[in-house]
Amino acid sequence: MKIIDILNTHNMSLSFEVFPPKKESGFDSIKKATEEIASFGPSFMSVTYGAGGGTSEYTLEIAKNIMNKYKVPSLAHLTCVSSDKETVRNRIEAMKEAGIKNVMALRGDLTPELMESGLENRDYKYATQLIRELKESDGDFCIGAACYPEVHPESPNQEEDIKHLKEKVEAGADFLTTQMVFDNNLFFQFMYKLREAGVTVPVIPGIMPITNANQVERAIKLSGSFMPHRFVSLVDYFGKDPEAMKQAGIAYATDQIIDLYANGITNVHVYSMNKPDVAKGIIDNLSAILGKDFGR
Ligand code: FAD
Repeated sequence: MKIIDILNTHNMSLSFEVFPPKKESGFDSIKKATEEIASFGPSFMSVTYGAGGGTSEYTLEIAKNIMNKYKVPSLAHLTCVSSDKETVRNRIEAMKEAGIKNVMALRGDLTPELMESGLENRDYKYATQLIRELKESDGDFCIGAACYPEVHPESPNQEEDIKHLKEKVEAGADFLTTQMVFDNNLFFQFMYKLREAGVTVPVIPGIMPITNANQVERAIKLSGSFMPHRFVSLVDYFGKDPEAMKQAGIAYATDQIIDLYANGITNVHVYSMNKPDVAKGIIDNLSAILGKDFGR
């Protein structure tokens, strides 16, 4: 099933993101965690792509397994920044053969290792090029792309960032998913600006439940996202008690999701980080809101 059809036809949807293992030794335990999340029956699940493509087969394996075994629509991520044309063509072909219908088309981060290797300007500079290629392939893919309510770190300003985001949509992106946001107002402000700029495709806010204090620093480093005072106090107060922190983090994420639904945002994506207990905690908190069928 195509994700755009879920987004366009359901009142509320909730999806989860998982990531593949870095090494073969981690495959079985991660597969098990992703299966557990799939067994809750979310609207769809996305599977990230390791920076530089090192774990490409695992992304496909996990996306296929979720889709075939649990009938949960899957969204396979694909990055292009360090790849050559032939590699990307082969990956697109492999996704098509695996029956993947949904692809998240990304550039990938310009990591220090990548910059050192000099591979950052191989055949692809921006995600727009990958989106065009997916669109021109015969895979009939539904294409997602990334967007940044708090501006992509490399962008000089929001106007420029939205201009290039619009190019991704014009190239063929069917929907957008945001970088993690901890303050819904930043998402709502971003939406006004997108609609004003003529970006009309569905935009899914990305919510990251922070369930242990160590995640905070990493989340800020990765995303540059603003942490509201209310959230910082919660981490300060509960951070040393793992169980209390987990409960508080799930409650904070749930509160954000309810606020989004209550303000007319129908689709929310949770960065569930391969944690079935966190996904379950959020689902349980929303049981009467989502109903049994998860909007499917
Ligand atoms: P682009 O859309 O290419 O944008 C990158 C920068 O270039 C932006 O500043 C943009 O404004 C600018 N730009 C675009 N076009 C032009 C142009 N023509 N001229 C000048 N500037 C331009 N990373 C992974 O490695 N694996 C994943 O699975 C993954 N999943 C993600 C999922 C989501 C929802 C998000 C938000 C991010 C994800 N990332 C992932 C991280 C992502 O790869 C990085 O944020 C990366 O730095 C940018 O990727 P992009 O696709 O948004 O790039």
